[in-house]
Amino acid sequence: MDSLTAWLTKVRSLLAPSLLHCLICGKTSRPAAGLHGICAVCEEAIPWIRHPRCQKCGRHVGCPDCSRSGEAVPIVCNRSAVAYTSVMREILGQYKYRGNEQLAPLLGSMLDRAYIQLKAERERRQQGIAEFQKAQRVFTSPIFRGKQSASNQRWQADLLVPVPVSEARLVERGFNQAERLADVLSGFRGIPQLPLLVRTHHTSKQSFKHRAERIADMKHAFAGNPDVEVLLQFEVWLETLGKRTRPLQIVIVDDIYTTGSTIRACAGTIRTLCDRYGKAAEIYSLTWARS
Ligand SMILES: [Zn+2]
Ligand SMILES: [Zn+2]
Repeated sequence: MDSLTAWLTKVRSLLAPSLLHCLICGKTSRPAAGLHGICAVCEEAIPWIRHPRCQKCGRHVGCPDCSRSGEAVPIVCNRSAVAYTSVMREILGQYKYRGNEQLAPLLGSMLDRAYIQLKAERERRQQGIAEFQKAQRVFTSPIFRGKQSASNQRWQADLLVPVPVSEARLVERGFNQAERLADVLSGFRGIPQLPLLVRTHHTSKQSFKHRAERIADMKHAFAGNPDVEVLLQFEVWLETLGKRTRPLQIVIVDDIYTTGSTIRACAGTIRTLCDRYGKAAEIYSLTWARS
């Protein structure tokens, strides 16, 4: 009888698509096709950033910030999964401030789409450069004609570094929201993650501040993680790369990119750390939302 019940349940589940309790709207509804834990209606409404208008910070609308500021930006670029609309703000609020850790796999899998997009962009770029070089060689020396160029190079991040939170925030929230997102991405893509950074002082809530205040506040907010074990892991990881000549490709992970001051400060600290080991690095950032 038990096996019959199990069989009937299985048949029933095959015949009718199961409904789910949506993590976003809370309704019991038809599940989304591409994301776990949410309904098809909520999936449909996600404001994905498919075509960033600012190539530097990945913003979906015109961006005066990147062109206005003359200062050197220590990252290659930022890419974000979604635009920070009011619905996305509500979701982030639930995750970050109301401690709904259950949302981490969903937000992490959304961040993975931004990773896929970044990867595709970098590969297109590499291919473009390779084709240009090939054309140049053909132009200058006909004997190179027909030679295979290295245009099929794959781009892959080498290391993920989550933006750290202060001890006080960690106690308050119980988890580091950026680290959870990096965990998901790391699991999906097999990219190692290391907490290379720590927050040196407790900055007050950034959301209540103006741009200039945030930037000034962030300048010295991060330092290399002094934990000997983390540094040892970093050294071991560097060893595994062997004699590779290309720069390290490091991706900073955070939940949101607002002015970019957090990312810039983190990137600066990572660069100092890499310099100490004599390693060239290209630093990128991936954030779940772009405001
Ligand atoms: Zn829903
Ligand atoms: Zn920009």
